[in-house]
Amino acid sequence: MDILSWPDDRLSAVCAEVTEITPEVRDLAAQMLKAMYAAKGRGLAAPQVGVMQRLFVMDAGWKEGSPTPQVFVNPVVTALPGADVIQTEGCLSLRGVLADVTRPGAVSVTWTDLDGRARQAEFDGFEAACIQHEVDHLDGVLIFDRLEQAERDAFLAAYEAA
Ligand code: ZN
Repeated sequence: MDILSWPDDRLSAVCAEVTEITPEVRDLAAQMLKAMYAAKGRGLAAPQVGVMQRLFVMDAGWKEGSPTPQVFVNPVVTALPGADVIQTEGCLSLRGVLADVTRPGAVSVTWTDLDGRARQAEFDGFEAACIQHEVDHLDGVLIFDRLEQAERDAFLAAYEAA
């Protein structure tokens, strides 16, 4: 499974809702987790592998401890009250460059799991940033879209040079 690099058009498009949890959806999630671990990433969204559906996989802490793969289908993120935080983010579709991105520090997320159950949970810290990063992918938004113009220009220049 190949991971697309920007400026592939599919990375800038809005993805469609997953209408049903089929064996194909479960297989896609399993393949995406395999690709994410192989690429040494902590999150991977379906459009990054050319599948234009609202699904992403995440394992925020696997490099520090035991793997905890998570799959989010049709995720919806709501910011919780509290301060915004800045995290340094990388992206498997923007190799070689990092960006300091400001986002809400804690979020409430609703999603569907691979058994078709409706789920809800709250996340903070690195997981909150990772989830917001991956949901951005489902809306065709990349980390440089979250930067001020001067930072965005510098990020894209560094990416071109990388
Ligand atoms: Zn990304």
